[in-house]
Formats: sequence, C-alpha cells, structure tokens
Amino acid sequence: MKISASLIRAVIVIILLIIIVSDFFYIKFLKKKMDNITILTCEADSMIAVNPLSFKEPKVLFTSEFIDVFYHYESPFKDGKSFNELIKEYIRNRWADHYGCGRGTRERKRIHEGIDFFVPENTPVYPLTNFGIVTEVSDNPHYLIKVEYEKPGGIKDSTKIEYGKLVRILYPEGIESVYVHLNEVFVKLNQTVDRNTVVGLTGLTGNIRNSGKPSHLHMELRDSENRSFDPRNRLRFEQNSAEYFIEHINIGDE
Ligand SMILES: [Zn+2]
Repeated sequence: MKISASLIRAVIVIILLIIIVSDFFYIKFLKKKMDNITILTCEADSMIAVNPLSFKEPKVLFTSEFIDVFYHYESPFKDGKSFNELIKEYIRNRWADHYGCGRGTRERKRIHEGIDFFVPENTPVYPLTNFGIVTEVSDNPHYLIKVEYEKPGGIKDSTKIEYGKLVRILYPEGIESVYVHLNEVFVKLNQTVDRNTVVGLTGLTGNIRNSGKPSHLHMELRDSENRSFDPRNRLRFEQNSAEYFIEHINIGDE
C-alpha cells in the first residue's frame, strides 16, 4: 500500500516533468516559426511589415509620400519626357487618339480605353515606375481582349477585340499599365521589372492592321478593378490598391 502510493506520486512527477520539458521545446519551436512570419498591412497611408514577435518595431515599406516622390509615372519610352510633352509630340489627333474618344459603330458604341502614342515602329517600351510586376503577357499577334460596348437603347454587352501582343504591368499603387500592339515582348508572367527593363517593342499587331493607322503604342491605365481610366488624371495611392499589389508579391521562401 505504502510502496504503491509513492510509486504513483513518482509517476505523476515524471509525467509533469515530461509535460514541462516538451512544452518548453514546443514553445521554442513555435517562436522559431513566428520568426519567419511577416505581416504586411496598411497604416496611416503607409504599407508596413511587422513580425508578430516584435509588433512595436514595424518596418515601413512604402509611404504615400514615398510613392509620390519615387513612384510618379515616367515616360514609357524612357526619354525623360513629361506626360504633357508626350501628348504634344506623339499624339496625332486629339479627338481620336485620346482616352474616351468614340470607337466602334452606331450599333456597338464603345470608347477608346487607352491613349495612342505614334512613335517609330520598334521603339523600346519600359515600365512607368522603378518597380512593377508583369501580370499579363501575350506573344500572340491575334490575342483577344474582352471589351464592353453599348447597343442602341443603352443596353450593355461585351465582345472580344484583337489587341495583339501585349504586356500588362502592376505598380505599387495598385495601378496597371497595358502596352498594346507590340511587335515583340521580352518579359514573362510574374516577372519583376524596373525602369531599365525593356518589356517590348512597339509595333503593328492586333486590330491596328484593319484600322489603316501606322504603328503606335496603345497604352491603357487600369485600376485594381480592371477599370480603365484617363491617364491625364492624377494617380492616387489607395489602401485597397496596395492590398491588390500585396496579393501578387512573393515574400520569403516559396
Ligand atoms: Zn488605341
């Protein structure tokens, strides 16, 4: 009776010790795992990275000021020209080549969703900022894109039109530029690009062949919901857009 009682006590002590020791190692293991976790979030117009173990020391990745200073949009031709200079120099017809001009027919009314820059054929094109991710690329000269149009009576419908070879680049603001009618594309899907990356050469692919127009760059700007907008409007840093950017970025090991 006496022996078995002390035996039970000893067994309980051993079990408790095992629990304490294994807990100790398990906590150590969890801490090591958390060391590799980075949370990306937006706070007061900044994109920050924090580690769960050091919440008080967030690392600021981007601020809206940073984006304003460093991520302003530059010429896709890397010629140092401002947007207004590009419009003066490369747009032939301000009624037909701008964003928002009428396209299609009376039965299928749509708008021109980009801006046409008439630069010499095979002019190299670059990203608009110093950091971007390729989110769409096509090497097919007959590549089709879905566009919306309006039937008589205001009924909305969609159709596909030939964009040809194209490259789409996403920037940290969550805005994308789409370069259309290219002769050559030099980038791959998900590739990160900077201001020195030649992403393609301007050309004559897609429906440009039926339009009778010479080679030009059709450039579109799209927001995080894939809506095109007038490139003449100032671009803004938006929290939702930053989150859209985060979805595409690869952090740590894969
Ligand atoms: Zn166009």
